[in-house]
Amino acid sequence: MLDRGDIRFFGNVRYGRDLTLEDLKRHYHAVIFATGAIRDASLDIAGIDAAGSYGAADFVSWFDGHPDVPRDWPLDAEQVAVIGNGNVALDISRMLIKHADDLLSTEVPDNVYAGLKQNPIQDLHLFGRRGPLYVKFTPLELRELGEVRDVDVVLDERDFGFEDPYVDSNLLTNKQVVVISRIMNKWRDEQANADREPASRRLHLHFWSKPTEVVRDESGRVSGIKVERTAPDGRGGIIDTGEFEVVPVQALYRAIGYFGSPLDEIPFDESRGVIPNEQGRVLGVDGAQVPGVYATGWIKRGPIGLIGHTKSDAMETLESLLEDRATWWQPDVIEAEAIVQLLHDRSVPYTTIEGWHRLDSHELALGEPEGRERIKVVSREEMTRVSRAE
Ligand code: NAP
Repeated sequence: MLDRGDIRFFGNVRYGRDLTLEDLKRHYHAVIFATGAIRDASLDIAGIDAAGSYGAADFVSWFDGHPDVPRDWPLDAEQVAVIGNGNVALDISRMLIKHADDLLSTEVPDNVYAGLKQNPIQDLHLFGRRGPLYVKFTPLELRELGEVRDVDVVLDERDFGFEDPYVDSNLLTNKQVVVISRIMNKWRDEQANADREPASRRLHLHFWSKPTEVVRDESGRVSGIKVERTAPDGRGGIIDTGEFEVVPVQALYRAIGYFGSPLDEIPFDESRGVIPNEQGRVLGVDGAQVPGVYATGWIKRGPIGLIGHTKSDAMETLESLLEDRATWWQPDVIEAEAIVQLLHDRSVPYTTIEGWHRLDSHELALGEPEGRERIKVVSREEMTRVSRAE
């Protein structure tokens, strides 16, 4: 899309530091913020700040080679807990439990491969506060988890023993849930087969388990996760049973959702972590529309949904923007080169679509001698240098 040439791309430009709202008003008719949600939602239980307790978003940034996070990640636990039953929990579980060599066919950055190669993990415990058919996993991603080499999926038969009218009336009417049910049942059958060769790593799925405390050792490090067993309330929710269990782990990741971050001079809803808006039109504290300012994606609707949702969301914002033509900003300087000059005058090392292609070719070339599809460049300085052909 960018290669078509009618959209200019400026990378490595930070709103609020390199460009202000005033600058945008001077050069454009409107702005759409699509800044997403990159922080972890907080989990308010005792001990969550213990050493060895991490947010999934930070770990994802590390294994994706985000340039602004440290290059090293402490992977020193044999037993690890992951809290949450969404696709992010699945993604990080897969990364943690997979043998590093099986990632070489992917774009895994070198430092991540080296880190994961040292990972002593043996057991990963994945916790959901509701039942196996209430998960937010998508079937494809769940099935993939069962196909990871040398990893046994372990289920707890207690989790499948509830009478729950909500499952038949509301869940099994959904095709995705039916597929998920089949996947789980297949794993249960495999587990019941005593002849299976044990794998060297195990992935334990715990349902009806609500985290209540991160247990710490004397040094303040994670030594376990305390959960309360829950049960279905028959209406899609849970009831507490008063029965607690502690599973020993030395590291814990919470994957219970992302949270948006505020932007300079733009209204922000602190409780939901989004920019308040109506169909993409940003609203001020008084509830009135802020002219010229729009939002789309996770910063607009919260951190839920796949790419398809994001597309329809963008269409809605664009429709609002086009309808509002009469209230757009009236920029003083609309010459295309003016913004380039401004970035140049401020010594902002911005990158372009041509630079993106240079970096892409560079990464592919780095991978070639090693028989890998590409080797990702992780440092911001190097990315910028290669992109700008400096
Ligand atoms: P999500 O799908 O909303 O899942 C969040 C999970 O955290 C839910 O299982 C939720 O349980 C649980 N949770 C929330 N608060 C909790 C608490 N206090 N204690 C225990 N559990 C709690 O969010 P996500 O995994 O961050 O994913 C965000 C979106 O990105 C999703 O739409 C996802 O499908 C998408 N995504 C897709 C892919 C992919 O396609 N490969 C990869 C990553 C992300 P309840 O259901 O009980 O609330």
